[in-house]
Amino acid sequence: MRQAVMTGPGKIEMRQVPTPETKSNEVLLRIKHIGICGSDIHVNHGLHPFTSYPVVQGHEFSGIIEQVGSEINELYPGMNVTGRPQIVCGECRPCKRGDYNICDVLRVEGFQAPGVAQDLFATSPQKIVALPDSLSLEEGALVEPVSVAVHASQKAGDVKEKRIAIFGAGPIGNLIGQVCQSLGAEKVLIRDVSDFRLNIARSCGLENTSNATNESMSDAQLRVFGNDGYSVAFEAVGIESTLADGIHTIEKGGTLIIVGVFGEKPKIDMALVGDRELNLIGSLMYKHPDFEEAVRLIELGKIVLAPLITKHFPLEQYEDAYSFIEEQGDKSLKVIIDL
Ligand SMILES: [Zn+2]
Ligand SMILES: [Zn+2]
Repeated sequence: MRQAVMTGPGKIEMRQVPTPETKSNEVLLRIKHIGICGSDIHVNHGLHPFTSYPVVQGHEFSGIIEQVGSEINELYPGMNVTGRPQIVCGECRPCKRGDYNICDVLRVEGFQAPGVAQDLFATSPQKIVALPDSLSLEEGALVEPVSVAVHASQKAGDVKEKRIAIFGAGPIGNLIGQVCQSLGAEKVLIRDVSDFRLNIARSCGLENTSNATNESMSDAQLRVFGNDGYSVAFEAVGIESTLADGIHTIEKGGTLIIVGVFGEKPKIDMALVGDRELNLIGSLMYKHPDFEEAVRLIELGKIVLAPLITKHFPLEQYEDAYSFIEEQGDKSLKVIIDL
């Protein structure tokens, strides 16, 4: 079978490797689509702190079950599925209390363990989520980023009837906005410096947008929320200025969820955090129920995915997909590899 191996930053080789054996407690998947995300791009640049080479990428995917091990009952060949890429220990303190997404020795397929960029991939049935017939396999590959958004939204507690600001209109910020809206948020404001991304946000039903290059956050929040302000913020960029905007403008006692990956350490005005009784909460990946909730929301038609998909490339053109992402800059959201 074919396997795409990243041998070093920016270099992907196609190899022929033997089909993996399916153990009695595993399922074998025929991979159909793989989404490329910001973390993958960091690996392609050689800038991901926790990934070494060679690495087989691919952690957001859909596929069809090809074969099931003899111990497995609920899954059958021919089912369309997606799955979690997390490898966890089950024994550390976070795992024991059910927070395996922050396992002390968490490994993620596509980063610290081989990912799915190959025709067939053997995995554990516990990580598999079945896709209903109403979802396409293309949508199935986007369940993973939607799950990131579901998990982040739950970190804020119940978002129903809340006023919410989102910093960053990339795929994750966009999906957080859509998830919050589908869960009954009163109003969502989404901000970015890219008009292109804000346009996409509007075509996904996020009508209140603000471009940070020509509108301050205080003006934007006044325009959108009036004097009521907002009580929940999601930072989905990972830079100091957006975090500072949130800390300065959210209402007192508000909650900021940190989803963006901060490459550089931001300076935060902790005096304001204390004085305004703000809650700063981190969010990492997802748990199994977040995947199920993501599938449910997509199935209900509450999440618009099509505008997020910029382009498809076949597996053989994995490197070209990255060149395309570089060339497009802010005009590329989700690029998908087809197998
Ligand atoms: Zn990702
Ligand atoms: Zn653990």
